[in-house]
Amino acid sequence: MIPGVLVRRDSVADALPLLFDSPHSGNVYPEGFETLVARDVLRQAEDAFVDELYDSAPRTGAAFLAALFPRVYIDLNRSLADMDPDLVEGGWPEGSTDNFKVRLGMGLIWRTHYPDLPLYPSKLSRDEVMRRIEGYYRPYREELLAMLDGLHARFGQVVHVNCHSMPSVSSLKSREGPGKRRPDVVLGDADGASCDPRLTRLAQDVFEGRGFGVAINDPYNGADLIRAHSDPAAGRHSLQIEINRALYMDETAIAKTPGFGRMREATTALIAAFADHVRRA
Ligand SMILES: [Zn+2]
Repeated sequence: MIPGVLVRRDSVADALPLLFDSPHSGNVYPEGFETLVARDVLRQAEDAFVDELYDSAPRTGAAFLAALFPRVYIDLNRSLADMDPDLVEGGWPEGSTDNFKVRLGMGLIWRTHYPDLPLYPSKLSRDEVMRRIEGYYRPYREELLAMLDGLHARFGQVVHVNCHSMPSVSSLKSREGPGKRRPDVVLGDADGASCDPRLTRLAQDVFEGRGFGVAINDPYNGADLIRAHSDPAAGRHSLQIEINRALYMDETAIAKTPGFGRMREATTALIAAFADHVRRA
């Protein structure tokens, strides 16, 4: 545990080469983090309660990692090259505007909030950006990599499940354009490049078996966290799971609804199914 940054829970059962991570569920807003957007609006960017959906992982032999800070402070599911150079005083030589997320204002540090609200009155200083990278982004990314490396070294393989939620309806900032209803669950495996396809199918079967609709790689095929950490040929598998928030929470009030219990049963079943799969492999 690093206060305000991350919480790590290791397996409390026989350990398996299986890890669930929740990079966007944090809601501890760092001291001095000021934006033009009100806190209750900022909170719409959180993957609220996703950490709780998967918190049974350590009891089945899986490891678990969650970020405590909010996604809108610095986005763990981006690479350092996803920094918008126009947001930083003096520019950001390592960054680039030549990518979809940066153009939408949703790079490593977001320039705008949904639907298109500027977050800052002026550019950020390089010191401010480095504080977020060194104090928050790197500790989480390094902890995740160390956990995956440790499991891979011990077992010769590792399965990483990267856990998210999505608004029920797409916004202006969405790849698919505004106003589209999202599926219940979207699985992303980088179009088959980030994990054994049997894992994608297994997750699909668990959710569909409980009556949820599942889409694969559309509209999300997975972002930096699964791409940076996967290499299926070397026994490193990563799968991204996006769950439709309307199934378990009130998206405006950011409060659980009765659907939360049903969804947590599904995610708990998913953890058990993945644990079985890994145990047999
Ligand atoms: Zn997310």
